[in-house]
Amino acid sequence: MNDAGIQLRATSAPAAVMPPSLWAATAPPGPRLERLTGSRRVEVAVIGAGYTGLSTALHLATAGIECAVIDRHEPGWGASGRNGGQVLPGLRLQRAELRGIFGTEVGDRTYETVETAADFLFALVEGHGIDCDLIRGGSIRLAHTARAMALLRESHATLIAEGVASRLLDAAAVAREVGTRVYVGGRLDPRSGTLHPLKYARGLAQAVLRAGAALYRDSPATALRRGGERWRVTTADGELLASRVVIATNGYTDGLWPGLAQTMLPLNSFQIATAPLTEAQRATILPGGACFSDTRRLILYAQRTRDHRLVLGGRASFTLADRAADYEVLRRVLTGLVPELRDTPIEYRWVGRVALTRDYLPHLHAPAPGLLIAAGFNGKGVAMTSLMGKILADHIRAPGEPPAYPVTDIKPYPFHALRQPVLHLAMYCQTLMDRLGR
Ligand SMILES: Cc1cc2nc3c(=O)[nH]c(=O)nc-3n(C[C@H](O)[C@H](O)[C@H](O)COP(=O)(O)OP(=O)(O)OC[C@H]3O[C@@H](n4cnc5c(N)ncnc54)[C@H](O)[C@@H]3O)c2cc1C
Repeated sequence: MNDAGIQLRATSAPAAVMPPSLWAATAPPGPRLERLTGSRRVEVAVIGAGYTGLSTALHLATAGIECAVIDRHEPGWGASGRNGGQVLPGLRLQRAELRGIFGTEVGDRTYETVETAADFLFALVEGHGIDCDLIRGGSIRLAHTARAMALLRESHATLIAEGVASRLLDAAAVAREVGTRVYVGGRLDPRSGTLHPLKYARGLAQAVLRAGAALYRDSPATALRRGGERWRVTTADGELLASRVVIATNGYTDGLWPGLAQTMLPLNSFQIATAPLTEAQRATILPGGACFSDTRRLILYAQRTRDHRLVLGGRASFTLADRAADYEVLRRVLTGLVPELRDTPIEYRWVGRVALTRDYLPHLHAPAPGLLIAAGFNGKGVAMTSLMGKILADHIRAPGEPPAYPVTDIKPYPFHALRQPVLHLAMYCQTLMDRLGR
């Protein structure tokens, strides 16, 4: 039984299916869950137990709304258990671009909402006592060209005007704060932080259970149909009958809802983790606890973990294969950035799927009565998915009010079926442009 006196869905857990990674090796086990069997009625069914689905369920259950979350595998199995752990406010687009898409009023409102995402996550973790190595060390955006630095200066001026204590770094300051000499300069945003992604996902799952929601593993939704007032979510061994449904499957979206998978390009992002750094390396590589990402088209990003490893991600591949060559490229990039790491062993290698959208925005869809979908976090979703869960829950509780994030139609990419060859070509062009410093 949980605190609310509700029977938890807990029996013997099957063998873990979590793909190997630094995070999987260092997180405590998640809650013991069972698969969904038989038929169960709930107010809200949530499909996908990443941060989006878990945060939605947590906010619903905390408000006393009965809900159940199902995952094809287990909580945190997707990007939420494998990412770079950078807690960043905002979206890839800035205020002016959001105004261009949604108009001034909605654009401004959306911008102001999403800029609170990192603060929201910090408060959520504290409020639920989630142990996930969260620290607020700031994030540094590194400029790989003078032109990129000029853009960082502009965004710095905007942040300062908005009251954020943003800081510009010249090349010498980057060398001091990051430990690399290959960048022109950078901009530090003190609102950001880092966490252990899988500890956070599993901590959220525990909080969901404590709040009284049900959570099932190994329960892929195989069909979704509406009959009368209720939705029927069919799984391999059971079904959920619910008044409302939330789809939260992001980069692992399948054919459950027509056209949804075609609104996103699933992109592999690779990560490597070094052995723990020596004392001397700790003094020079991210000594202040910041994380970083750079301005290349094929973005590089890194954090230093609590056990002092450097985790570097990047080298995106549009094939969904997991190839040794991708990790080798990343290792060479790492020693190019920080030659002192030439002899430091790489102890973990893993990959996860980012969901890119055409407009670089996460999408909130409401394609049928009682159905909400949030997807397309464009590789910047640790904080935003957490906030999106609250936005979804608030909208379910007060459907008469417009949600705090704009609802848009499902618009598949044209020629989505041809994405592999076209994207390969696009990626080679982008690599070339990065190498040429464009
Ligand atoms: C390698 C990598 C590095 C990243 N680094 C960062 C970072 O440093 N900072 C940042 O802000 N963002 C980062 N991101 C992005 C961030 O991780 C994601 O935006 C976020 O985790 C998405 O969460 P989600 O809950 O929407 O989806 P996911 O966590 O992907 O969860 C989707 C879940 O849906 C389940 N599912 C799919 N289909 C079904 C079905 N039919 N039935 C039941 N369940 C189903 C899957 O099993 C999965 O568990 C990174 C992503 C990757 C891949």
